[in-house]
Amino acid sequence: MLDAKEVLSKVRCDHFVDGEYVKSYGTKEETLLNPANNEPIATFKLGNAKDINHAVSIASAAFHNGPWRHMEIEERAQILYKMAGLINDNSEFLAMLESLNVGKLYKACLHGDVPRAAENFKFFTTPRWRHMTERYRMGSNFLGRSIDAESIVDREPLGVCGIIKPWNSPLMLASWYLAPCLLMGNTCVIKPSPWAPLSIMQLGEIANEAGLPSGVLNIVPGGADAGQALVKNQDVRGIVFTGGDKIGRSIQIENAQVRRKGPHLELGGKAPTIVFDDADMNLAVEGVAHGIFRSQGQSCIAGSRLLVEEKIYPEFMRRLVEYVKTLKISDQFDPAAHIGPLINRTHLQRVEDYIKSGIKEGARLVCGGKRPQGENLDRGNFLEPTIFEVNKPSIKIYREEIFGPVLTTRSFKTVEQAVLMANDTDYGLSANIWTEDLEKAKRVAKALDVGMVWVNCYFVRDLNTPFGGRKCSGNGSAGGRYILEYFSQPKMTCIAHYSK
Ligand code: NAD
Repeated sequence: MLDAKEVLSKVRCDHFVDGEYVKSYGTKEETLLNPANNEPIATFKLGNAKDINHAVSIASAAFHNGPWRHMEIEERAQILYKMAGLINDNSEFLAMLESLNVGKLYKACLHGDVPRAAENFKFFTTPRWRHMTERYRMGSNFLGRSIDAESIVDREPLGVCGIIKPWNSPLMLASWYLAPCLLMGNTCVIKPSPWAPLSIMQLGEIANEAGLPSGVLNIVPGGADAGQALVKNQDVRGIVFTGGDKIGRSIQIENAQVRRKGPHLELGGKAPTIVFDDADMNLAVEGVAHGIFRSQGQSCIAGSRLLVEEKIYPEFMRRLVEYVKTLKISDQFDPAAHIGPLINRTHLQRVEDYIKSGIKEGARLVCGGKRPQGENLDRGNFLEPTIFEVNKPSIKIYREEIFGPVLTTRSFKTVEQAVLMANDTDYGLSANIWTEDLEKAKRVAKALDVGMVWVNCYFVRDLNTPFGGRKCSGNGSAGGRYILEYFSQPKMTCIAHYSK
């Protein structure tokens, strides 16, 4: 493992604009703390509206006057392929930064997030995306003459795209959008979350080394004011937002004042996990725990509402609690750790407020709920994996996205009841089903009002497939052709051929 101090001494903390790391116009400084001990790891300047508008003007000039959009898609793909290689070459460095900044387990960053980010870049460089032009021919008639009408449908870039990111899994989530955005010939300004900008900020150096023309990728970390400036800037032609439902709604309204193209919104979730009595119990117990406690529950697809068939409910809960108690809470660099710290004290306290409200509203605390004790744990933002049994579905912890290691559980009697309970939420991002009866699983999957369903697994994703939700979970899909469609606009050219 690399030395953390050495990694931090090399980290780029300035904004990346026009192919260079530059100072911010802003004066507000943000110090990031290691979630495991709250010691400072890096300081950067929060971008403000002036920084954003400057970056947009650079991205706009790069789009209109630079070579990027005129290159053949193969040439752009080659540069993105190099970026993928460089992400992999720097995987230990990037994984350590991500882990130090977010508190996500180092092994998950090294073997999951970082290689997956590279994979996302690579995926969009495969030849299949280079042949998106459609061609049609049809016999027709014009001014009394027969013609052979040749129609060509090209996909053209939008222009400057604004990409706004949340703080969980920043590098991997950024790669979902940067790769397709750039492949289609757009230029962009990405605004990482002020809580977790470090890994994304290193992409500037990687882009330069890969030969990305300057001005094509610009990175300005900042808070709400910077995000708002990006949405309001009229030179931005498309907004891609990943974050909470509340901000997503405000962006939808703001966006409508500025541009006709709607924003692409990937928002929160409150995923149901349905366990039927015929499930492989050992696998389901581990799967359910993984689905909620992985990344300390700080995931949009966290399976935070567990619904278990009544017949097996007591036994399943007994085994689940027994299993959860074996999970090791520790520093994110401990190879034996299952659960690391939450990102910061503010977020920890927010999650603890939910726990208090659950108790106040009458949910039964089955396990967890406290900060774990221990010499090395006191200084960090650790929280025990927490399970509540819920009687009233109206209570806050059952309805709102907690984004922490808190599972709510209920039992159900019939398949129909399970479906009703699963769909009884404002969100519609994902769901999980555990059963040995795959026909039943398919029927239930069809009845669930969500964008993604995992059966007997969790977050296994072919990059060709859509990632996205419905209802308050958003309106678009990352992945495959779905996101390429957002980042491009069709143009039809019809040529009449007259017979001589
Ligand atoms: P958030 O909504 O608070 O912030 C997201 C981003 O928006 C940040 O960069 C923030 O600085 C910026 N922002 C804040 N106010 C803004 C405004 N008025 N205009 C423009 N930008 C603004 O979310 P968060 O706390 O950073 O992240 C957690 C949320 O993200 C959770 O709800 C989680 O479910 C969601 N999320 C969704 C997905 C998905 O793919 N569906 C993936 C990861 C996270």
